[in-house]
Amino acid sequence: SYRKGGYHAVRVGDSFSGGRYIAQRKLGWGEFSTVWLAYDTQSSGFVALKIQKSAPQFAQAALHEIEVLSAIANGDQSNSKYVVRLIDHFKHTGPNGQHICMVFEFLGDSLLRLIKHNHYKGLELNKVREICKCVLTGLDYLHGGLGIVHTDLKPENILLLTTINATKDPIRSGMTPILERPEGNPNGGVTMNIIEKKLKQRARRAAARISGRRSSMGGVGGTPKSNRSLDGIDLRCKVVDFGNACWEDKQFAQEIQTRQYRSPEVILQSGYSFSADMWSLACIAFELATGEMMFTPKGGEGFSEDEDHLAMKMELLGKIPRKIAVGGARSKDYFDRHGDLKRIRRLKYGCLDKLLVNKYRFSESDAHEFTEFLSPLLDFEPEKRPTAEQCLQHPWLNFKNQKQTEVKNESGVERVNIGMSKLQIKVGK
Ligand code: ADP
Ligand code: MG
Repeated sequence: SYRKGGYHAVRVGDSFSGGRYIAQRKLGWGEFSTVWLAYDTQSSGFVALKIQKSAPQFAQAALHEIEVLSAIANGDQSNSKYVVRLIDHFKHTGPNGQHICMVFEFLGDSLLRLIKHNHYKGLELNKVREICKCVLTGLDYLHGGLGIVHTDLKPENILLLTTINATKDPIRSGMTPILERPEGNPNGGVTMNIIEKKLKQRARRAAARISGRRSSMGGVGGTPKSNRSLDGIDLRCKVVDFGNACWEDKQFAQEIQTRQYRSPEVILQSGYSFSADMWSLACIAFELATGEMMFTPKGGEGFSEDEDHLAMKMELLGKIPRKIAVGGARSKDYFDRHGDLKRIRRLKYGCLDKLLVNKYRFSESDAHEFTEFLSPLLDFEPEKRPTAEQCLQHPWLNFKNQKQTEVKNESGVERVNIGMSKLQIKVGK
C-alpha cells in the first residue's frame, strides 16, 4: 500500500507542517491511514498524527472526518466530553501524492488491547461501569448535543487516556523527543534502528524505575500472567475514529457497523439512528465484562452470516417481534410472513442472566443487575432503547457508590464494597 495513492512512508525524525510536528514512532494503522506519535514543537507536547492515504476517495473521506471532528471540537471547548480532540489538520505532499493529515491529542491503548492484556477474562464490573460512563458521556454529547451517529463503535475505537504499559507512554516514560532526522546519513533505515534501539533502552530504564516504584506499593511488578493487575491504570477513555460517522439527518451508508457490533435494524435495513450506537455499546459492555464477544456469527451450509447473526440474537434475547422482523427492506431475505427465520428453524432459546451465571460464573445478583442494564439497550425495537442520556441515569452505573459503606477501623475510615460478588469485601488499598 506504500505506492501512489496509498500510505505515506514515514521515518523517525520526519517533519510535517513546516517543521511543527516531528515523527517519533508508529502508533497504529487503519484501512485508510497510518497513525504516528509525533512531537509538537509549538506546544512542546506529544500528539497523534494520522496520515491518510492520498487517493481521492481517501482524501474525501478525510475531509468528511475533519468536518465531523471540527463540529465535535467546536461544541466542546473545555474538552471534557470523552471524545477525541482534533488539534490541527493540514496537507502533506510526498512521493505517493498529497496526504491529508489530522493531529489529535495523544491517547493510550484501545479497549481491545485492554481485553487482550487481561487475557480475555473479563474486567471487574466496577471497571466496566467506569468505561461505560465515559463512553455514554461521549455518546450523549454526540447524539443529543450534535446529532452525530458514530456508526462504528467497537473496542478498537475506544482508547484509554493512558497506555497500559508505562514504557510505551511518552509522558510516563519520560521520553525525550527526537527533533530531527539524523544528518549526513541518507540511509534512514539504519539510522532509525539506532534511534529505536536507544529509545528502547531509555524506555526499559524508565520502566524499571516505574515498575520498581509500583511493586513497592504492591502493584504491577512481577504479577503472574494469569492475573495481571490493572491497578493504577486510569480507566477513563475516549471515543475515536469518526471516519464513518454521519449526521443523523444526512446518512450515506446503508450497511454500517462492524459485524459483531451490528444492530438488527442495520441487518434488516429498516433505517437506523442514534440507537444503533446504543446496541453496539451493549455488545462492548458485555465483552468487557466477560472477555468474549457477545455475538460471533458465521455463515454455514444453507444460511448466511446475517441469518446466523439474527438467530443468535433471538436465541439470547427472545424472538424478534413480527412487525420488526418483517418491516425492513431485507426482511424477505430472512423471514417468512409469520416472522420466523426461513432457513434456520430450530432455535435454542436461552437468556442473558443464565448465560452470565452458567458460562461466565457471575453471581446471581451480578448477573441480574448487569442484565437489567444491558437488556433495554438490546431491544429489537430501536425506538424503545434508552438514549445515552437516559442510560447515564441507570442505577447499575452507580452501584459501586450505592453499595459502598464507610467502615471505621484502626487505620481510620475505609471505604468497602458490600454485596458485590466480584469484589468481595475489600478493606484498604
Ligand atoms: P482508521 O480510520 O484508519 O481505522 P483510526 O482513527 O481508528 O484510523 O486510527 C487507527 C489506530 O491508530 C487506532 O486504532 C489507534 O491504535 C491509533 N490511534 C488513533 N488515534 C490515536 C490517538 N489519538 N492516540 C493514540 N493512538 C491513536
Ligand atoms: Mg479505526
